[in-house]
Order: sequence, then C-alpha cells, then structure tokens
Amino acid sequence: MSFCKEVKNELIAIRTGWCCKPALVYGLMLYGRAFSIKKISIQTNNENVANVYCNLIKEVYKIEPSLSVGGTARPTYKAEVSSESERLKILASIDFGMGEDVIDRSLFLRDCCVNAFFRGVFLACGNINNPEKEYRVEFNIKNEKLADELLNLLLESGIVMRKVASKSGFKLYTKESAVIEDLLTLIGAGKQTLNLIDTKIIKSVKNNINRARNCDSANISKTVEASIRQRTAIEFLEKKGMLYSLPEELKSVALLRKEYESASLKELCRLSNEPISVSGLNHRFEKIIKIYEELK
Ligand SMILES: [Zn+2]
Repeated sequence: MSFCKEVKNELIAIRTGWCCKPALVYGLMLYGRAFSIKKISIQTNNENVANVYCNLIKEVYKIEPSLSVGGTARPTYKAEVSSESERLKILASIDFGMGEDVIDRSLFLRDCCVNAFFRGVFLACGNINNPEKEYRVEFNIKNEKLADELLNLLLESGIVMRKVASKSGFKLYTKESAVIEDLLTLIGAGKQTLNLIDTKIIKSVKNNINRARNCDSANISKTVEASIRQRTAIEFLEKKGMLYSLPEELKSVALLRKEYESASLKELCRLSNEPISVSGLNHRFEKIIKIYEELK
C-alpha cells in the first residue's frame, strides 16, 4: 500500500463529531472532481475515499450517490450524485452568497470543523510522498479561485504552502517537513505524524553519521540508537510545548542534544558548558525519556 493511502485510511478511520460532519463532506465535495448543479462527483483510485464520500453524503443529506469502477491496469472509483433534484438539495445547504468557488465558512461551527474540512479536502485532492524518499505534500485543485481560498484558509491555521500552475489546474504544495507535520497533526493523522517525525530524525542522524567516517560502526549504531531515542523524546516534549518548562538540568541537556544531533555522550560532555560526567548525562536523558514514555 502506498504511504499516501495509509495516511488516508488513517484519516478515514477517525471518528468525526456531529458538528464536523457537514464540514468534512463539504471539503470532499468542493475539492472533488465537480461540485455544481451540473455535476457533483469525485474520482479516485482509493476505494475507501469513494466509499467515505458516499457514506457521508448519505448520512448528512439522506442521498445515496452512485458508485462505479472503471480503469483497467489501475481501478478508478467514481462516485456521483446522479439526479438534479438531489444535487439541488445539497447545494441548498451551502451559502453561495460570496460566489461558487468561495469556501462557505458558515459551515464551520467550531475550530474542529475547520480541521475536518481540511481532512475532507486532503482526502479529495491531497497527496503525500513517502517521507523516506521525499518530503512533499500537495493539493491538486481544478481552478485558481479554489486554490487561493484553500491557501488562505490554511494560512489562517498556520500552514504556509506555495501555489503553482499545473497541467490539470493548480497545485498547493510544501516540501518542508515541519509544515507537513503541522498539517498532518491538524487534520488528525496522529500515528502517521509520529512516524514521519521518526523518519526525519533517522534521516538526519544517518546523514550526520555518514559524514563522520573514522568511527567504528558498532559505536556508531549505538550512538545513533541512543540519539534517536533521546531526540524522539525531546521533539515530542517540544511539540507539546513542555521543553522549556523542564527542570533546568534536564532542559540544558535537551537543548544540547538538539544542537548536536549525532554527537556521542562523551562528545556532549565536552560540549556542555557545565561540568558533567557521561553517566550523569545519561541519567538525565533517561529522565527525559521517562517523562516522554509516561506522556505518550
Ligand atoms: Zn466540529
């Protein structure tokens, strides 16, 4: 299964609150293949996305879209609301006062609903690369107005993406791992987010280690392993906003580790401003890891 499909399956499995459902299905419809009186449809190679599109429309509007499968080498799933009266019923629930390609924010009752909307949009037109190969998330959008609308709404949630013209319309994309993590966290992909962070850490530690040629390999892997554990804990605490409220002795070594990602404990002792032994340093890292384990 592709990494993107894994992420989407995880997003689909999230339990959606009652207030969020109209926003979630709106995101799926507005950023699907078509959303107008002539056609309301989605086309995808992920059958779970097509199914969730149908199920949500059924649940929210009591309308059952038709689902068909096409394609030979790779199946393509197409779901659409076939009758005009049903399309009218759906469109009547949206406020088009500001225009057809403007996001109707009156559907967002709370902050959670905006995030659910982003989740629907990502399911409909989002793509994420496997972070082991390349950091990249993009949204493929059919027209510029909808691309701008999404760009602005994401920006309001602190997610900065770039817009480019593409063959089929416009793309919003980011290649920054921190932005990708924030976006995934926002739309609710907990497990994938953490996996992504782990991958990032492993990647950067490996890169650093590759540069240090003249160490023996057993020591390297021990150093890498310890560093990964420590950095996973530190990054987690930082994300939770707890890094700077740690006791001074723990905070200082955490910041030291952040600065020197791949250094061994011995090297860290040398780099530390205060005198500290290897076992003392190790003891402090164990404390940090314990805090992380308890919170996780
Ligand atoms: Zn909500």
